[in-house]
Amino acid sequence: MNAYPNQVFLNGQFVSVPDTQPTSLINPADEQAWIEVQSASLATLSSAVEGAEKSFHQIWKSLTPGKRAAALYRVAAEIRKNQRRIAEAESKNIGKPISDAMDEVGLGARVFEYYAGAISQFGGQTLPVASGGLDYTVREPLGVVAAITPWNFPFPIACWKVAPALAAGNCVILKPATISPLSALLLGEIIQQAEIPEGVLQILPGSGGLLGPAFSKESRIRKISFTGSTEVGKEIMRMASDQLQRVSLELGGKSPNIVFADADLDKAAGQSPMSVYANTGQDCCARSRIFVEAPVYDEFVAKFIESTRQIKVGDPMKPDTQIGPMVSSDQRDSVETFIQSARDAGRNIRIGGDRPLNKGFYLSPTVITDIEFGDRCWKEEIFGPVVCVTPFTNEVEMMKEVNNTPYGLSGSVWTRDLHRALRISRGIESGVISVNSHSSVHVEAPFGGFKASGIGRDLGINAMEGYTELKNIYIPDLQ
Ligand code: NAP
Ligand code: MG
Repeated sequence: MNAYPNQVFLNGQFVSVPDTQPTSLINPADEQAWIEVQSASLATLSSAVEGAEKSFHQIWKSLTPGKRAAALYRVAAEIRKNQRRIAEAESKNIGKPISDAMDEVGLGARVFEYYAGAISQFGGQTLPVASGGLDYTVREPLGVVAAITPWNFPFPIACWKVAPALAAGNCVILKPATISPLSALLLGEIIQQAEIPEGVLQILPGSGGLLGPAFSKESRIRKISFTGSTEVGKEIMRMASDQLQRVSLELGGKSPNIVFADADLDKAAGQSPMSVYANTGQDCCARSRIFVEAPVYDEFVAKFIESTRQIKVGDPMKPDTQIGPMVSSDQRDSVETFIQSARDAGRNIRIGGDRPLNKGFYLSPTVITDIEFGDRCWKEEIFGPVVCVTPFTNEVEMMKEVNNTPYGLSGSVWTRDLHRALRISRGIESGVISVNSHSSVHVEAPFGGFKASGIGRDLGINAMEGYTELKNIYIPDLQ
């Protein structure tokens, strides 16, 4: 099996869609078109909803918890068996370094294992209501849910939407981003190999502009789970209001990284570069605004630039590559307009800002200092390997600026003072904080944003709750 699937995955089969425009995928590392993938039409969507609803009512929602868990464990095992194949497809599709792609496919398998295990722990409560009798809650699946995913972490995000939804008893229609459909389609192969009943997971590559509004017109789709831009997230929420579809939205970020003078500077400066450059900065959790306490500012910036210089940028297929190309020429152009705005304003571009290789959508990791808080680069999500660093002297003033953003996804604080770590962690208006670390994603823990960074949570048991309705049942005492 060398060729990758390039048709839509409908009711358990890969099928061809006549009369739609296929998408030609460009390998970001060499700028060559290499595979065409078909797009779902509105008719495909109707068949997908019909098939998913049938499977939901006839099979999936009434499968015993034991059998549903066994099915998800089979999916995880097949993902592990196919780890390299999926990782290579991802890497060629979006330019992700192969070592990261391998890790992310492994993460996808762990997500399925976690939710397979969670099924037997997931239930309601009995409640001592004032009138006596038996009052208890149950969590019921919603029905058919849609998952719309982005191109930056296509495989793990697909898994962390699909797995909890299936675990809770729903059937899912997955729409990957138009430019990154391959790993999602490979999940279709996995579903076949794991002998999951047909219609439980439908995979429809195709245009968000076409399918998105159609998802919201479909009364049989009960929830839209989305990861992507804040702009599209708002549009989905508006559209979903017509049918009161449930939404969970994981959107953009402009996260702070706060370094106090008492921090382990070598560690902070050594680890901080990849907290913004990983995945070529195309990461909603990127810590792209660094606040450094004034006495150690120069030393931190010097160390940070030195660590940046050591990063290996290049061919994503090489095992030691840390940063590959950007996903597309458009995405690189967009990031370059930010860098140009900093140049035009006379800001200090300390390293990077250029294209390091002639071929491929590469952009060098870029450090900007001497910024002003009104700068585009400081305020807006760049979604590229660009970081701004600024000194601070007053904690209260610094924290005001930390929260002076519509976003609130992640954030880090570096200090050896426990009280300060607690105070700052509580003070940052974000959903995911790390202390003396930059890790944001743990399969077992909730992941999501405050404010314009989103609504609802992926991962952890919270995500599974988000794919259910909570029902209360009351039975009076019989005297
Ligand atoms: P996007 O438009 O939000 O795309 C994300 C997903 O939404 C894709 O599957 C897309 O499909 C789909 N979509 C687009 N329009 C839709 C609509 N009207 N209704 C329903 N779904 C729709 O993101 P983008 O344009 O690829 O990237 C733009 C910016 O968004 C980036 O520069 C970055 O700032 C941000 N972003 C954030 C994340 C994140 O992880 N939070 C991820 C990606 C991008 P198509 O591919 O067919 O358009
Ligand atoms: Mg878009």
